[in-house]
Amino acid sequence: MASEIRHDWRREELLALFGLPLPELLFRAATVHREHFDPSEVQVSTLLSVKTGGCPEDCSYCPQAQRYHTGVDATKLMEADQVLEKARQAKAAGASRFCMGAAWRSPKDRDIPKVAQMIAGVKALGLETCATLGMLSPGQADALRDAGLDYYNHNLDTAPEFYGDIVHTRQYQDRLDTLEHVRQAGLKTCCGGIVGMGETREQRAGLLQALANLPAHPDSVPINRLVQVAGTPLAGTAELDPFEFVRAIAVARIAMPRSMVRLSAGREAMSDELQALCFMAGANSIFYGEKLLTTGNPDTGRDQALFARLGLVPMPVRVDADGHDHPGTVHADITAPARGCAA
Ligand code: SF4
Repeated sequence: MASEIRHDWRREELLALFGLPLPELLFRAATVHREHFDPSEVQVSTLLSVKTGGCPEDCSYCPQAQRYHTGVDATKLMEADQVLEKARQAKAAGASRFCMGAAWRSPKDRDIPKVAQMIAGVKALGLETCATLGMLSPGQADALRDAGLDYYNHNLDTAPEFYGDIVHTRQYQDRLDTLEHVRQAGLKTCCGGIVGMGETREQRAGLLQALANLPAHPDSVPINRLVQVAGTPLAGTAELDPFEFVRAIAVARIAMPRSMVRLSAGREAMSDELQALCFMAGANSIFYGEKLLTTGNPDTGRDQALFARLGLVPMPVRVDADGHDHPGTVHADITAPARGCAA
């Protein structure tokens, strides 16, 4: 029988999963994975930073926060024609989705027409569109939808009770509110978080509980492993046990059976063997490209070699019988130089 789609996960249940012997946890996650996906397919996404650095927020992990001295130079919002040129390159390389990120607390209303122009142009190329721009008002979400936006990324980052240790310039409820505006606008959501920020296992379970108990499971769930950047407050944090990261992937797969569970930031530092364990634990999406906003990403040659060694293939776009789409974003080789909100 197919695993149930639940929105009432209790913290103890998720902690009990975390506490299983690793082979048993992997078996359960792999079983759920096979109920909904071909385990040989991995969605491949790339994103472009359309406005880098200079962000007024204080997210402790982020090199794009203006207040930290990380060597990231702030840029202005790219011109639409520059973005479209990158999108054309992406399409020529096989992309089906194009993600645009801007390091803002929230877009100003005057920014929306410029971003809408980018979205409309990318959409007109026949690509799926995704954006991550910070907090959105209902009207902004509607305007982006009207321009042709398909997905919006907005992460919960961590458990509610740990959020105040990581971010001080906004509240958890602000994140939930934007996600609600995005859902109300009819956009698909991409929402996950970061592990390895010094949180406890219970707090890692708390992040997954918050994600799984949203009114709708996010279509994509990026699970980032903290990339420690010199100059940010989290530089020097004790490294998370790699097996604990695998456990987090497996529990995410079990709690959100139909979502794309994405290996995002932190993948560059992972061995091929650790990435393979993550795929076995139910991860089925990666970012692919030279850089993941401001931190490194494995080069495409290494990814292609890893796929070949593991017998994995990029996931094509398809829509299942009840309309839940499983879009793959096949992408080769454009630069995604910097992004903030750790999709
Ligand atoms: S994560 Fe996003 S909101 Fe936070 S400082 Fe970085 S760019 Fe700004």
